Amino acid sequence: MALSPSDEVAAALREFAERIDVFDTAPGETVVEVRVGERAAALRAPVARALVEALRSYQDPRDRGTCDHCGGPRLDDNFVCADCGQPSGVFGQLLRERAARYEGPPADLPG
Ligand SMILES: [Zn+2]
Repeated sequence: MALSPSDEVAAALREFAERIDVFDTAPGETVVEVRVGERAAALRAPVARALVEALRSYQDPRDRGTCDHCGGPRLDDNFVCADCGQPSGVFGQLLRERAARYEGPPADLPG
């Protein structure tokens, strides 16, 4: 049976705290209490610091940087910006330069 999102977050938080707590021989007092749904997780100082570090170092796998044109944060797999529609980065610059020089297909093509 799949866990609800709330139960999954609570379980991940509990497992995270257990992984950190194992390194401290003298249990400290709770410095932060995080409520997830109906449950509260009590975090000691080392766990709270580790959680902050983990949250700040997280990078979404869909995060491909920011657009060179508008600064938007949503670049697709081809580094095309979802906000302004322009390709970003060196590849995007090459595409824009090529597109600017493109004059259409030659008129003398057999057709
Ligand atoms: Zn953009």
